[in-house]
Amino acid sequence: MTPNLVAQSLSANLADVRAHVAKAAEAAGRKSSDVTLIAVSKTHDAETVAAAIAAGQLVFGENRVQEGKAKFPLLKSAHPALELHLIGPLQTNKVRDAVALFDAIHTVDRIGLAEALSAELKRTGRTPTLFVQVNTGEEEQKAGVAPREALAFVEQCRTQYGLQIAGLMCIPPADEEPAMHFALLLKLARDAGLKELSMGMSGDYETAIRFGATHVRVGSAIFGARSAVTAA
Ligand SMILES: *Cc1c(COP(=O)(O)O)cnc(C)c1O
Repeated sequence: MTPNLVAQSLSANLADVRAHVAKAAEAAGRKSSDVTLIAVSKTHDAETVAAAIAAGQLVFGENRVQEGKAKFPLLKSAHPALELHLIGPLQTNKVRDAVALFDAIHTVDRIGLAEALSAELKRTGRTPTLFVQVNTGEEEQKAGVAPREALAFVEQCRTQYGLQIAGLMCIPPADEEPAMHFALLLKLARDAGLKELSMGMSGDYETAIRFGATHVRVGSAIFGARSAVTAA
């Protein structure tokens, strides 16, 4: 597609997703302003992100620190209100880069990471919004703390490492009904006294909003399909 066509379909997709978010929020008796739409721009280039910004989108998600670093510093300085969320696994040796670049980290999932984040936040004075990732489907290949360990982990982040955890995040198993995973995450967040819920992707964000999602992470419904090689 020519750049113009990309921009046109992008802005139509964004309008469509925003309308669905608003409708799902309303149906759940919630305000659409209580749901943050994170446009997941992984695998798409900086020009595409710029087109989304031109269409009024200022909140983006990336799953890799390196990719975020390659695309966002210039966009961030041009658009100070831009918010960047890390939604993929964070290695301890990338904590410094991640804290410097990202405004929110959705994937706090182990003590070693909590410790490294704590030290880096103290060192820099930065205060990214933090989510604990919960492996609601207890899938071996997936990151996140087990549901039965989530409350103790959040507590340990708070008391031992002084981290303010804002909420919980999950990625339901691909082959299961997402609703039960969203319900579980909602229950865990309530039990832990946490307000923010990062859940819902292109295929299920309306369901997630019904279960209280405050942050939905939507990629392909906005930017189109990613090529299979880079889709992870
Ligand atoms: C890629 C990704 C998304 C977006 O997925 P889509 O199905 O394209 O909306 C959401 N969350 C995470 C953690 C991702 O890695």
